[in-house]
This record gives sequence, C-alpha cells and structure tokens, in this order.
Amino acid sequence: MKTFCGRANPTTGAMEWLEEDENYDYHQEIARSRYADMLHDKDRNVKYYQGIRAAVNRVKERGEKAIVLDIGTGTGLLSMMAASAGADFCYAVEVFKPMANAAVKIVEKNGFRDKIKVINKHSTEVTVGPDGDMQCRANILVTELFDTELIGEGALPTYEHAHKYLVQEGCEAVPHRATVYVQLVESKRMWSWNKLFPVHVEAEDGEKIIVSPSEMEDCPGVPSVCDIQLNQMPSSDFTILSDVVTMFSVDFSKPVRSASTSYRVQLEPVKSGKAQIVLSWWDIDMDPSGMINCTMAPYWVKSTSAFQWRDHWMQCVYFLPNEEPVLQGEKVYLTACRDEYSVWYKLQKARGEEENKAAVRVESPVCRCQAHLLWNRPRFGQLNDQNRTCQYIKSLTKVLKTDSVCLCISDGSLLPVLAHYLGAKQVQYFLQYATFFFLKFFKANNLEDKIKIIEARPELLTSSNLEDNKISVLVGEPFFTTSLLPWHNLYFWYARTAVTSHLTSNVTVLPQSASLHMMIVEFQDLWRIRSPCGTCEGFDVQTMDDMIKNSLNFRESKEAEPHPLWEYPCKSLSDPQEVLTFDFRKTVPEYSLSTEGSVNLLRKGKSHGAVLWMEYHLAADISVNTGLMQISNEKGNCEWNPHCKQAVYFFSSVIESETLLDLPSAVTYAINFNTKTGEIAMDFKL
Ligand code: SAH
Repeated sequence: MKTFCGRANPTTGAMEWLEEDENYDYHQEIARSRYADMLHDKDRNVKYYQGIRAAVNRVKERGEKAIVLDIGTGTGLLSMMAASAGADFCYAVEVFKPMANAAVKIVEKNGFRDKIKVINKHSTEVTVGPDGDMQCRANILVTELFDTELIGEGALPTYEHAHKYLVQEGCEAVPHRATVYVQLVESKRMWSWNKLFPVHVEAEDGEKIIVSPSEMEDCPGVPSVCDIQLNQMPSSDFTILSDVVTMFSVDFSKPVRSASTSYRVQLEPVKSGKAQIVLSWWDIDMDPSGMINCTMAPYWVKSTSAFQWRDHWMQCVYFLPNEEPVLQGEKVYLTACRDEYSVWYKLQKARGEEENKAAVRVESPVCRCQAHLLWNRPRFGQLNDQNRTCQYIKSLTKVLKTDSVCLCISDGSLLPVLAHYLGAKQVQYFLQYATFFFLKFFKANNLEDKIKIIEARPELLTSSNLEDNKISVLVGEPFFTTSLLPWHNLYFWYARTAVTSHLTSNVTVLPQSASLHMMIVEFQDLWRIRSPCGTCEGFDVQTMDDMIKNSLNFRESKEAEPHPLWEYPCKSLSDPQEVLTFDFRKTVPEYSLSTEGSVNLLRKGKSHGAVLWMEYHLAADISVNTGLMQISNEKGNCEWNPHCKQAVYFFSSVIESETLLDLPSAVTYAINFNTKTGEIAMDFKL
C-alpha cells in the first residue's frame, strides 16, 4: 500500500508530497535501530547469559520445571540463552512485528523451535491458560526493556502487569534488580545547555549585555531526558560536589509498582559550589547476590567503563530548575520524582525545609518560559558559545552601517539583537515563528520597538512587511530547527533566493558562502551500530544482519546520518577536504552542483566511513565551522564542534589496512547536490 505524506523539505523549504511505502517506517526503524549495537554489547550479553544460567539452575535445583517469559525478545537472544541453559520452555514476546518474524527465523535456524514460542504481541495483551498464548504462568522472567533513563521504554508498567498476570509468585527475574545512582555536580559546560548566559557585546557606544527574560530563571525546562556519552566529558569540564549515592532501586522478582512516586536522599557536599546538575546512571544485578553486575558507571567511578562502550545505554544529565549554592559538609536533600516513564530532580536545603516525603509534589517539569521549547540543549550550548558569538560580532561590525536595513533569517537567533547593537540602528526585521517568546525576549532587553518580527515564509514576504524598505544586509547563522543533516541549513540559500526582489542591488549577504567538507575516519566504537554481528554468544543472528542490510537498502540507501561526533571518538585517515561551495551572494542555481575527486589515506586504520560538515564564511577571513575543530595529535584524534551534529556516511564494506604499505592510497568520491530537491547524494570507492 502507498500513502502520501506532506512535509516541508528541510533544505529547500518547499512543500512536497512523498509517496510512502507502508513499509517505509519500519525499514527506517530497523535501519536506524539499536539492535546491532545491543548484539555487539559483549559485556551485556555475557552477563545476561550468566544470570539466565544461574536462574535456570536455581529453579531446577528446587525440582521445578523452568518456564521462561522473555518480554521484548527482539532477535530471540535471551530466550535462546535460556533454552541452552536448560529451560524447559520459553515464551518469547515481541510487539514489533518485523522483529517477531525475525525472531521466529532465528529461533528456528538455531534449532530451538520446540523450546521457544514467539508471541507477536505487547506483553499486556498476552493471555494465559489452556487456550491462551501461554499454557501456564512462567517462573523465570527475563527482560531487557531498559533505556538510558532505565524506565523510559515502559519497563515499570510492563513488569507491573507481568507480575499480576503472567508470572508465578516468587519467580526468578533476570535482571534481578536495577539501581539508580546520582552525583551532584557543578558544570558551566553542561549548565550552558539549559540556560542562556548573558551575552556581552562591545558596541560603539559602550558595552551592551543581552539578558534573558526573568521567566527563564527558574524554569524547570523540558521533561525529556538528556542522555549523553558521559565518558567523553573530560573531568576538567565539571566539579564533583557529592559522592555517588543510590537514589532508588527496583526488585524485578517482586511485584513492581509503576505509579508516580518520589525518593529522597540526604547528601553531604564534599565541596562548596553551585549545584546545577545531577548526573545519573544505573546498574543491573543479574542475580540476587549481586555477583553478576552490569553497570553504566562513568570512567571516574569505574575506570574500565571506557572499554565497555555501548550507545543503547548511556548516562543521564538532569538540570536542576535553579542553581543552588551548597557548602561543603552542609547537608542537602535531593529528591527524585518519577512517573511511569521519566525521572526528574529537586534539591532542597536541609534546614527549614524539612517537609516530609509525602509533601513533595510529583509534578512533571513543564517549560514555562518557552525558551526550552524553542532551543534544544545543543542549541543552548551554541548560543552560549562566546567564541562563536564573537565571530558574528566581528563580521557584523564589518558589514553594518548606520543606515543598513537588515533582515535576519534563522530560527531562534540572537543575530537581530547583535545587529541592532552593532550599528543597524534604523530598522531591523526578523523572519521568525516563535513570536511569543521573542516579544518577551526583546522586551527584557528594551528592544520591542527596535526589531520587527515578521511572521511569514520568505516567499510570502511583501513590501508592506518591510514598510517599503529594501534590505541592504541579509543575515543568517544559518540555523533552522528543521535541519537534521548539516546541509539542511542551506535552507538559508533558498530563503535568500525567495526574498531576492526585496534586496538592494548591492546587498551584503552574511554568510557570503558556505562550503561542505569531508574526511575519511576510523571510529573507535561508533562503527558497531551499523556493523553486522554474525554470531552473538554462539547464536547465529545473521538473519538480523540481513534484515538491517535490507532496510538500509530500502530507498534511503546511500544516505548519511547525523551524529554529534564529540561523543564518538574517531581518528582521521585522510586530510579534511573541501568538496562543494555554495555562494549565497547569488541565487540558488537551476543546475545541480557536483564534484568528483579522491582523498589520500595518510594513516593506517579501518576506513569506517566519511564525515561531512559545513563551514560558513561570514565575511572575509571570518568563518564558523560546524565540524572538525582540529586534529589533536599525530595519531589523528579528532576534535569536533560540540554543539553540532556532523553527517556520517558509513561505508558498506570496511577498508582495512594494517601497515602503511598495504594502504589503499586513496578513496574516490562523487558528491552531487541536487538544487531542485536539496538532497546530497554521495558515492565512495576504493
Ligand atoms: N531481548 C532482546 C531485545 C531487547 S530490545 C535483546 O536483549 O537483545 C527490547 C525489545 O522489546 C524491542 O524489540 C521492543 O519492541 C520490545 N518490547 C518492549 N516492550 C515490550 C512489551 N511490553 N511487550 C512486547 N515487546 C516489547
């Protein structure tokens, strides 16, 4: 079946109707899924296997039959482990149909057809009884339903239901227990993902400070978890204010309650400072004794954690609603509130606020100031990046005159305010939709009557919107919230083209141009998420590999995907190369822009793929780079812009070279920017 879906093209801005195959969504889901990453997670797999063996043995020692319920079986892996460990029968429940189908094939291929029954249902739909999906209740409950926040994928309601209806009282559970840990820290870097710091501007008539509206001050932000690879956060970027403490734990072998609740712990700060952030992670004990433990603890808590890389489970950063000064040794209370799916934190000073636990209101955070809806966390970080702001200030100073009529096209941008302070005194326009927030923002800076917000798409801009002025300076960062891949911000070029009739003949466009850059890299770990597994703990899971490959080839083949590479170490195997340029001083051409060439491989290593990013040339000699900041040593380790996602194109076969002699000398590429569709197609060959 085909359906039509309307969307605004992220690059060209044009409304388009896409014919979607009904299979499109699930192919996307499989192609970009975390199944490969989980199957590559050796530490996880080994410990599950140990835990499952131990649980089966305990049941057998009691002289009982081992009946396993595996909720969310995926490939069937944990059920196959149980069957191999001697379980008498396994019910493998999987809600996602393509995965359930794959599990049937994998189970059969591995010879467990008689021992494992795959049930394609959500666990809450599963029936028990002579005519039910399950003949009887299970006495071993195996699951892997956890996300970085532990409960975000609905583990609690699933367990609650399973204990009520699907498993016996006193059942064994693998994992047996999960424990959530927290640590209080101060970190300017992480705090800059949540609050807008004052922006200092040296203007001709003195220093100006751009401030945020007061509503932003104690706004709790958005409830979505901030999950990151905390192991990539250098210790110099945060100050530890408390020891690691246990916040709460869940025993999965007993009835679980999913209803909202809160937990409170007392902390004694080990250092004075500003409490801003709660870092959190969890571990799971696969057995009751806690001997088989799988932990997400970061490197400063567990030194070997860097070697246990995984992307499906990371660590959480929670922002306190306000920063709180704390004193070394002076106790404070930290409260974790949770509903069925998410967790959030509050800090209270011990003295004077000794409210009892019941009085703590369990109310999910909602952004009141609107800024957290407009700016996501990397965007906050970008806006707070003083160096970046400095580049815009320098270039605006160069191009603005007192009689400049300036139009800014970018989402949620501070450029109009900078432009106002830096000379464009007369009048300024800002194409923008988040009008409500910006009215407050301009008011907080006494700029209500200085900057005019125009709520129109660029192609619908009229002379009366501009009060019959012509634009002499057109500016953009460019940044658009609809951009996923780096080149989607070329929307600025399309918008510039659409407003051409409103520009003066000698208009200045800032940035004047952009360039696309490319480099071949070897990833330390990220390659795992797109690499076939073959076998996992002795089980043949190639069916899964084939399925992922098939989905990758489904329409969206030859596509790059966005990743924030500061979280994923890699080394450069080639020099960075500029591959395409886009001249914003001219309109978007009718023809496609394409290039072919080759890059020399300079280092030995595995060529996992190419990384691509954009650089914006604001004015002569002033650029903003959204990708590679530097190659930090002779080994080729890369440093990436921490506020942007870069595009990663994974090669379908990995080019490996052990020595410089057997180095393939170069990788050839062909890259094409289709100006009609705004898409970039690429092809790489050895
Ligand atoms: N057990 C596999 C896969 C884990 S991924 C492994 O360890 O490798 C979790 C899987 O659980 C996903 O495939 C998801 O679709 C499924 N799932 C999550 N909640 C479920 C529920 N309540 N009932 C059935 N399937 C569920």
